[in-house]
Amino acid sequence: MNKQLIDRYGRIHDYLRISVTDRCNLRCVYCMPKEGMSFEPDHRILSYEEITEIVKVLAKLGVRKIRLTGGEPLVRKQLDRLVAMLAAIPGIEDIALTTNGIYLASFADALKSAGLTRVNISLDSLKPDRFAMITRGGDLKRVLAGIEASRKAGLAPIKLNVVLMKGINDDEVESFLRMTVDEPLHVRFIEYMPIGKQGQGWKGEYLPLAHVWDTCKRTGLRYDACREAFGNGPAQYYRLEGAAGTFGLIHPVSDHFCETCNRLRLTADGNIKPCLFWSDEFNVRRHIGDAAAIESLFFRALDLKPESHEMALALSGERMSRVPTARTMSQIGG
Ligand code: SAM
Ligand code: SF4
Ligand code: SF4
Repeated sequence: MNKQLIDRYGRIHDYLRISVTDRCNLRCVYCMPKEGMSFEPDHRILSYEEITEIVKVLAKLGVRKIRLTGGEPLVRKQLDRLVAMLAAIPGIEDIALTTNGIYLASFADALKSAGLTRVNISLDSLKPDRFAMITRGGDLKRVLAGIEASRKAGLAPIKLNVVLMKGINDDEVESFLRMTVDEPLHVRFIEYMPIGKQGQGWKGEYLPLAHVWDTCKRTGLRYDACREAFGNGPAQYYRLEGAAGTFGLIHPVSDHFCETCNRLRLTADGNIKPCLFWSDEFNVRRHIGDAAAIESLFFRALDLKPESHEMALALSGERMSRVPTARTMSQIGG
């Protein structure tokens, strides 16, 4: 490989998160407003051919891992077609999906056959009513069916993303931990992040993940740190005594992991986002058809990538050093 995507801080970028749509069939309280969202018209959304062209350029620069996200990626038609196109690119070794799981039971087999390696499913409550409240209308049964279909399809490992919120689902940590005992499920507790304009109630609902350790202590659950690594992310993993699965902690706010950042983002409307948190974006869509220009825009984006986010300042109310993004998580892809 000639060139690599290395930024000013020496971080090698080999991972691209692609948002394939800004639309979603749910309206999770921490991600999207209840109403009033406006969505990109279809003609402004990157086609599968355009996404593939961009990934071909990046694969030559050392990108090996792709995650498809959204909005809800499974609301986009024939996502398996995109998976197959990406899987055929030399150098791409891992294609993962982050989904709310509602449509997963119908698509798990086709996605696996197309070359999807694994899946992360967002699941913030195991109580049907509460799940419907958090997602503003989601049906928990369908997500559980999606998990089962993924297991049968051989999409592994299956990770469950749980955003912990004070007073909303913090009493369910033990139930989520116990899910990992009999099944090879990997539960990841994620700190609620102040992204976009959703954060009105954020300060009151943000919960540092030390809460997970408090729960283990209180309930007598014993665990060990895992030696094996799972995937591309920042989670540290642990295993309850004798459990088939694991649990992980992702704590972007209380203890950020930006110094090991390996990721770039591509929004559904064709913008490179070098960092989740800040507003900097670079429109790559206008360079479609010109591989050299696509490449140089990625290097430019990387050159301007900041060292870290400043989410903690949202708690203290201190002034930030630059402008945070105004996009919602659904527009960025998480
Ligand atoms: N719709 C898919 C889903 O929900 O899995 C993919 C897109 S969603 C934006 C990606 C991930 O971001 C989900 O796991 C979701 O829980 C997480 N997320 C959204 N808003 C968040 C926030 N404010 N803080 C922490 N995680 C958030
Ligand atoms: Fe949709 Fe995912 Fe955001 Fe929930 S977290 S509103 S499922 S994009
Ligand atoms: Fe990387 Fe930015 Fe996320 Fe930190 S906040 S891990 S620098 S994308």
